[in-house]
Amino acid sequence: MAAGPILPGATLGVLGSGQLGRMFTIAARRLGYRVHIYSPDSDTPAGQVGDVEFVAPYEDLDRVREFARGVRVVTFEFETVPSATSRACAEIVPVRPDGEVLHVTQHRLREKSFLEQRGFPVTPFRCIQSLADLEAAASDLGLPAVLKTASFGYDGKGQRKLRSAAELPEAFAGLNGAEGIYEAFVDFSREVSVVAARTLDGRFAAFPVFENLHTNHILDVTVAPAAIAPELERQAAELARGILESLQVVGLLTVEMFVTRDGRLLVNELAPRTHNSGHLTIDGCVTSQFEQQLRAVCGLPLGSTELRRPTAMCNLLGDVWFNAGGQPDWPAVLADPLVKLHLYGKAEPRRGRKMGHLTATGATVDEAIARVRTARCRLERRSPVSPL
Ligand code: AMP
Repeated sequence: MAAGPILPGATLGVLGSGQLGRMFTIAARRLGYRVHIYSPDSDTPAGQVGDVEFVAPYEDLDRVREFARGVRVVTFEFETVPSATSRACAEIVPVRPDGEVLHVTQHRLREKSFLEQRGFPVTPFRCIQSLADLEAAASDLGLPAVLKTASFGYDGKGQRKLRSAAELPEAFAGLNGAEGIYEAFVDFSREVSVVAARTLDGRFAAFPVFENLHTNHILDVTVAPAAIAPELERQAAELARGILESLQVVGLLTVEMFVTRDGRLLVNELAPRTHNSGHLTIDGCVTSQFEQQLRAVCGLPLGSTELRRPTAMCNLLGDVWFNAGGQPDWPAVLADPLVKLHLYGKAEPRRGRKMGHLTATGATVDEAIARVRTARCRLERRSPVSPL
């Protein structure tokens, strides 16, 4: 393990090459680091801005070791890398967060069991390996419920809502032999997230609570500050602190939570990395989530997480290109001087594909939301749904 902090000028490694890796790399370069990217793809969002793009399968452990030998620390932007890949890196350099955090958070059942055993609040859940398990879960925990695949699901992929017992056989068949998790349906009033960082010597910093609005299970708009009471905000940060400490996270981890209608917090999901909801930190906070990840994995002091102004972020999916009938109207979006445009360098727009995002600040959250929504409509050459 490296003794002191990893200082500017050093080379850092990132497993995964999407937009989270890109924005991490930009933050790292601003502080004078070099960044090597490893993923199976070429000309990637992160590879375009990194110093070296290693293009090889995650399973090619010789290449993985060669990559690890060239860097001082490995972090990741994508948690579904095989455990063997992070282990091969860890033989050579620190991996932050480490393989154990990755192992827990890449599997919904392991993650929820971990949280429940340590007393963190989660919705009741059951492991599903047979139709009998599913029927038993429905009778014990009731309906409606959500059935998810235990591994490799994100943005609502591999999950469905169950409303009646008649749907169970078809829902079980839909798992296609994969292990499932049955979750009691949470009647929530809001979805929020806490992005937090922890250093090797236990220093901790959480960003303000972000409030997330979804469309078709994909994050659409995030705002800060969230419309929740200061006491709940404090509880959310403490919950995150407890989770990062239990997992001994060195680096950054995001806790997605529900606020129930009766005002309690339940943890939905953990992501051992930066998060889509944290994109607003780039333009809204003193330190961005990417710089914070860098500081945490390099053993540097953490930056201020203070929100400078009410901020809203909206995703730009490939749908924007289709709705615009081709190239979106970029000058029109920049006509609002308080809107910031971020694009990820992805050549091909596809429906549902995250191509970029917009951030706006405002005197109030409502003003910031109106600005990003209006700007996105302008991109699509549509008149705004809600006027500024
Ligand atoms: P996930 O992939 O677990 O983040 O779920 C995607 C979205 O589905 C969440 O953001 C919620 O809107 C919804 N969802 C997931 N789990 C539940 C649940 N147990 N009860 C109600 N809604 C849920």
